[in-house]
Amino acid sequence: MQINLSKTGRLFAGTALAMSLASQVSWATTLPTNANTNTVRGKLTLTHISASQWRADYEFDKAIDGLRFRKIGEYREQAWKPGANLAVAAQDKDKDGDKDSYLSTSGSTTRFSFFIRPYGQFVEGEYAPINQFTDGGAAIYMGFFLPDAILNQQTSKLTLEIHYQGLKDQTVLPPTKRSNAEDSAQAYAYFGPQKVSKAGAMQVVLDPAMPEWMRDMLLSTSAKVSSYFASAYHRPLLTPLLMTVALSDLESKGLSIKGGASHGQINFRISGKQSIIESPTLRDAFNQLIAHEIAHIWQNNLPHDGIGEEAPWIHEGGAEAMSLDALLSSGLWDKEKFNAMQTKRWKECETLSNSGTDLATNYRAHYVCGMKRFDDTKLNIVTIWRALIDESERSGKVYSEQMVREVVARLQHR
Ligand SMILES: [Zn+2]
Repeated sequence: MQINLSKTGRLFAGTALAMSLASQVSWATTLPTNANTNTVRGKLTLTHISASQWRADYEFDKAIDGLRFRKIGEYREQAWKPGANLAVAAQDKDKDGDKDSYLSTSGSTTRFSFFIRPYGQFVEGEYAPINQFTDGGAAIYMGFFLPDAILNQQTSKLTLEIHYQGLKDQTVLPPTKRSNAEDSAQAYAYFGPQKVSKAGAMQVVLDPAMPEWMRDMLLSTSAKVSSYFASAYHRPLLTPLLMTVALSDLESKGLSIKGGASHGQINFRISGKQSIIESPTLRDAFNQLIAHEIAHIWQNNLPHDGIGEEAPWIHEGGAEAMSLDALLSSGLWDKEKFNAMQTKRWKECETLSNSGTDLATNYRAHYVCGMKRFDDTKLNIVTIWRALIDESERSGKVYSEQMVREVVARLQHR
C-alpha cells in the first residue's frame, strides 16, 4: 500500500508576509517601488455566502490603490475572483518571492472584495488553503488573507481586524485569539454544520463520513497522547486545542493524509480510496502523525512563539522523537514497534546522507536526520525538550542551534 504522509503546514509562518518590502525589481508603473512606513488599518469580513462560495470584504481607513499578497501557487488564480473594481496586476515579484497583486480599476478606494471557491490543491511546505469536508463544511487558512496595501505606488503594512459570518445555523469557529490580530490569523477558520465535541483536553470537529474505527482511533489517540504530553512536559495547554479532520476526494487512488499544526489547532485532510480501509499500517501512520502534530503544540505552548523560522530540524526532528516517545510511553505502541519506527527513520536519514543530499534544506531530512541528532545525544527526549521549553520561556527566544547546543551540553555534564 502506497502511503503518502505529509505535513503541508509551514509551522507558524510568522509575519513574513507583513514584513515583505518591495525592492530590487523593476515595476510596472502602478506597482510599488519601495516600502511606505504608513500603516493602513482595515477590517476583513469573511462571509460564507452559499454552499460553495465565500466572500472576503476588505475595508480600509484610507483610500488605497490595491492589495499585494504572498503568492501561494495557483491558489488565488484558481479560487479567488476579484470584485468588479479590481484587476489582477501583471507578474509581480520581489526578493521574498512571487506576489499576487490586485489593482483598483476605478482610482483609490476604501473597499475591495473577493469571491472564493473551494480549492483542493496545496503547495508543499505551505498550509493547505482550504480543507473541504464531505458535508460541505470547510476549514480555511486565514494566513493567506493578509496582504500589504498598495498606496501611492508604495507598499504599506496593512493591519486587519477579522470578522467571520456563517450561513444560517452553521457552526463558525474562528482561530483562537492571540495578542495581535496578525498572529491570530495564522490558523484556520471552520465553517460548517458540525458541532464541536470533546476528546480529553481537546476539542474536535470530525468529518461525519468518517468510519467508526477511524473516529474511535482519532479520539482515543488524541486523548491519550495529549494527556501524556501534559504530564511528561509538566505543562497544561495555555490555550484550548482544536483538531479538525476532513475527508475529501475519497474517489482518488491510494491514500494521503495531510496535516499541520498552527496556533491552537491541528488540522488534517485525509484523501483517497484506501484512507478509510482499516489496516495496522494505517493505524500506526495515523497515531504517529497525530502525536507529531501534538508535539508541535507543546513546543509552542508558551506565552510567545517558541518555534522560529530557522533550523527546522529542531522542531521537526524534535516532534518526531517526541511523538515516538509519546506513543511508547502512553502504551499505544510496544517497545518492538517503537524500535522498528526509530530504525526506519535512522535508515532514511542514512540514505539521504549517502545520496549527497543537502540535509540542511531537504524537507524529509529535517524530520529523520533531525530526530537522529536528538537520539545521538543519548539523552531522554523528554528531558531535552523540557529544558528547551523552559529555556525558550526564560529567554523569550525561539529554539535555535545555539540553544540546543547549550542545553544539551548542560544536560550531558550535570
Ligand atoms: Zn511537523
